[in-house]
Amino acid sequence: MAKILELENVSKWFPIKKYLGRKSYLKAVDEVSFDVNRGETFGLVGESGCGKTTLGRLIVRLYQPTSGKARYLDKENHVDLFSMNEKAFQDYRRKIQMIFQDPYSSLNPRLTVLQIITEGLGYSNLSSSEKKDLASQVMQSVGLRPEYLFRYPHEFSGGQRQRIGIARALIMRPELLICDEPVSALDVSVQAQVINLLISLKEQYDLTYIFIAHDLAVVKYISDRIAVMYLGKLVELSDSRELFSHPLHPYTQALIASVPVADPKVRKLTKLQPIQGEITSPIDPPQACLFASRCPYAMKKCHESVPELKSAEGSHQVACFLYH
Ligand code: SF4
Repeated sequence: MAKILELENVSKWFPIKKYLGRKSYLKAVDEVSFDVNRGETFGLVGESGCGKTTLGRLIVRLYQPTSGKARYLDKENHVDLFSMNEKAFQDYRRKIQMIFQDPYSSLNPRLTVLQIITEGLGYSNLSSSEKKDLASQVMQSVGLRPEYLFRYPHEFSGGQRQRIGIARALIMRPELLICDEPVSALDVSVQAQVINLLISLKEQYDLTYIFIAHDLAVVKYISDRIAVMYLGKLVELSDSRELFSHPLHPYTQALIASVPVADPKVRKLTKLQPIQGEITSPIDPPQACLFASRCPYAMKKCHESVPELKSAEGSHQVACFLYH
């Protein structure tokens, strides 16, 4: 399958205050590598603070990386998004769009929906009426009436605002859409509608998704492959069905075991198992498996070296000494 994005050893370390003259770093993303295939939905999961949102923001250059490469594979060009200058990145800014978590704060309350949606077209030579026509089209694609273009964000519900955020991204005709927790701020009843909308838009607009979420049920529903992050590191990567039927990393196993089951009959038979143990600090973390303090299988080796993400079974990759 053709790739659209290759991340290679991407890191984002935030410097924090020196302590006794020593510089410390919060390693939000640390040496993360993976590929995204054209046309797939690539899920990125983990607890809040694991670095998944930071990684999404690095890809669209809202943050500058500390190190690493992000190769975008166009039909004609293969370019490193991180090393190109701002002018050269403009074209890729159109191709890679982001949908944000909070539909309340991500829309400027002083602008009409039309202004919000067409803001990104500023660079184009389109006339006002052409922009309005395009805005009407994307409004219809996301299930909103074109008459709403002259209203303000406060006149809409959370689900409708998220649809406006999606329309704002779609009008740029992107190839890759980074969806950062797009439904986590919405009511449960609205979440399914927005997820189903994203699924149908993917076909209609020939999109590739990186779908970031902490809700495993949502990620399982929408993703073709899933990467699991823990404290800035990728710990498991697999086909979605394989990951849920046969999770390898003890953290993934614990994460799946901690998901509440909706069916009351099944719920009676299963016991929720919260992940025990203290979380390792992401500030100057040790050269060890970062899950060792919470892992029931931790061995001496786990406290002394960092397990690499390697193939365990076919394309199923895991970073754990139990398998290597
Ligand atoms: Fe547990 Fe060791 Fe595997 Fe880390 S490397 S998850 S501590 S068994």
